[in-house]
Amino acid sequence: MENEIIKNLNHVLKRIETACVHSNRPLSDVKLLLATKTVPAERIKIALSTGQTLIAENKVQELKEKYEALKTTPHINHFIGHLQTNKIKDILKYDVSCIQSLDRIELATKLHQRLQLENKTLEVLIQVNTSNEESKFGVHPEKALELVKQVAQLDTLKIKGLMTIGLFSAETEKVRACFRLLKNTQQQINALHLSNVEMKELSMGMSNDLETAIEEGSTIIRIGTAIFGQRIYPDSYYWDETKK
Ligand SMILES: *Cc1c(COP(=O)(O)O)cnc(C)c1O
Repeated sequence: MENEIIKNLNHVLKRIETACVHSNRPLSDVKLLLATKTVPAERIKIALSTGQTLIAENKVQELKEKYEALKTTPHINHFIGHLQTNKIKDILKYDVSCIQSLDRIELATKLHQRLQLENKTLEVLIQVNTSNEESKFGVHPEKALELVKQVAQLDTLKIKGLMTIGLFSAETEKVRACFRLLKNTQQQINALHLSNVEMKELSMGMSNDLETAIEEGSTIIRIGTAIFGQRIYPDSYYWDETKK
């Protein structure tokens, strides 16, 4: 099992390297994030033992369950799931440095209020729904700028870029269109030089589409399956509120 994770991880690193060469981008441009939903802490530790540092959960409950076990292994926690406002107090207990899934002003406002109370700041990415699938979270691309402007007013939240989940499709060009849309949105926002807004990070690309994402400018690749193996739950369990 241990060897399997390390073998898979090395394979993913090779894929990232090849894609960077192919796209003429320096390897240092692209960070690997391990998407650890449903993966037990012991298995996550194996991946961290190879020098990987960036991990992310989709549910506050799982973050909480694995927190103690992972505490002594140095790592950085991001959050990539749909965050309900009633979980805000909870999530701030577990050293999450960036919420990549900020997709509505209501959530931003409540986060800001809590962060003010705790005298903390938090990095965020704005999640954009580039595939136009109703089952996926994220602000509509045309509403992204408006949301960024609103969030920028909240000084405890530091916008670092955008995140998206590409279309699930074997048709590469349709997937690519999602990533291009995110990149275009980033460039449009960047051109405005808004204060308290950085647009450096583009979190896009998963196990099946990391090459396309790197070609289109991704800076954070989020990988679960290709490293830890197939999950038992379908992703709709994490992405579709109606399935809960
Ligand atoms: C599960 C998940 C991933 C990783 O997906 P894989 O296809 O398993 O690599 C990436 N991003 C988000 C938001 C996820 O929920």
